[in-house]
Amino acid sequence: MFKINENYLKLPGSYLFSDIGKKVKAFTEANPDKKIIRLGIGDVTLPLAPAVIDALHKATDEMAVKETFKGYAPDLGYEFLRTAIAENDYKTRGVDITIDEIFISDGAKSDSGNIQEIFDLNNKIAVCDPVYPVYVDSNAMAGRTGEFLPELGRWSEVIYMPCTEESNFAPELPKVEPDIIYLCFPNNPTGSTINKAELQKWVDYANKAGAVIIYDAAYEAYISEEDVPHSIYECQGAKTCAIELRSFSKNAGFTGTRLAFTVIPKELKCGDVMLNSLWARRHGTKFNGTPYIIQAAGAAVYTEEGKRQTKEQIAYYMNNAKVIREGLAAAGYHVSGGVNAPYIWLKTPGKMTSWEFFDYLLKEANVVGTPGSGFGPHGEGYFRLTAFGTYENTLEAIERIKKL
Ligand SMILES: *Cc1c(COP(=O)(O)O)cnc(C)c1O
Repeated sequence: MFKINENYLKLPGSYLFSDIGKKVKAFTEANPDKKIIRLGIGDVTLPLAPAVIDALHKATDEMAVKETFKGYAPDLGYEFLRTAIAENDYKTRGVDITIDEIFISDGAKSDSGNIQEIFDLNNKIAVCDPVYPVYVDSNAMAGRTGEFLPELGRWSEVIYMPCTEESNFAPELPKVEPDIIYLCFPNNPTGSTINKAELQKWVDYANKAGAVIIYDAAYEAYISEEDVPHSIYECQGAKTCAIELRSFSKNAGFTGTRLAFTVIPKELKCGDVMLNSLWARRHGTKFNGTPYIIQAAGAAVYTEEGKRQTKEQIAYYMNNAKVIREGLAAAGYHVSGGVNAPYIWLKTPGKMTSWEFFDYLLKEANVVGTPGSGFGPHGEGYFRLTAFGTYENTLEAIERIKKL
């Protein structure tokens, strides 16, 4: 008789986006004349840049010709793409990453969920609260997080690092020493960042404690301030303690096209075992490559045209972020984020809970956002708005909120 992986049964239901969907549906049915504006989604809306589309067409045509047809991609990804990454994402920032330290994949979600496989089950993980749920849930599925305590909204064996207004929504070094630390900057959901000196403290801490940092830099392209690091490898000593995750989803609109990469430096070791070798083995066994067409499209992001066009897209979203941030601040809201990230994190007014504010905003302004409590207990009393809507809708949503 087969048995299931019972760790899955311990997972609390993930109702956040389905609950939002249900509430919006009920409201629309009761108020068919109202125009709803959605600023809740964490997904891009602009179409792919022309340079990317051209590369997709060209690569598709290559697949139609015997001489240029491609089958399975190389395990780590095509060299042309890994070279473009090493040159453009790292060398330009004074970081020397070799192409065999770069693993091309189909998403930072899969990589951030899968990376825990190369670590022992007894490792203790530390995460921010609030947090992108994949880090915790993937460890829970593996059986690394103990029991879920519904009354606390927490797992018994996870170290939570609260991100509060007092610390500008950055985590403080944990009091209990973790083995694996998940960090995401610029942050989803809070939109917060830390500067280089602050990130250096985490690198020093991890090297001293013998911990590994899994650094999710999916929103790196949204950084506008000078002192905010784009890569953790800009910090001294990061190569011996950090894995970095990157994605083409938010910087080039690949959420539906699927392309990302993970960097594991060869200096990152446990005893004399390189994590790079373990991940290479895992990747080669369980993943058969991102399609050639998609990797060719990814390489187009690094051409002059591609860089210019994707920069314009980010500028468009960041202009929305500015509209939201400044509009809400003028209306008296406590807002943060939206400077180096497409997310604005606002404090709910008058001690409303996150869900009370959700209902209020839906009913009175017909605007949909995301309740902060859906990302963890310290998200309670906060609300996330995203800059991924159209400019016109963003402007109108903020005008409506201002009038409340
Ligand atoms: C959107 C996002 C990603 C990107 O995931 P993909 O699978 O590459 O689309 C990774 N991490 C965070 C925190 C995100 O919000």
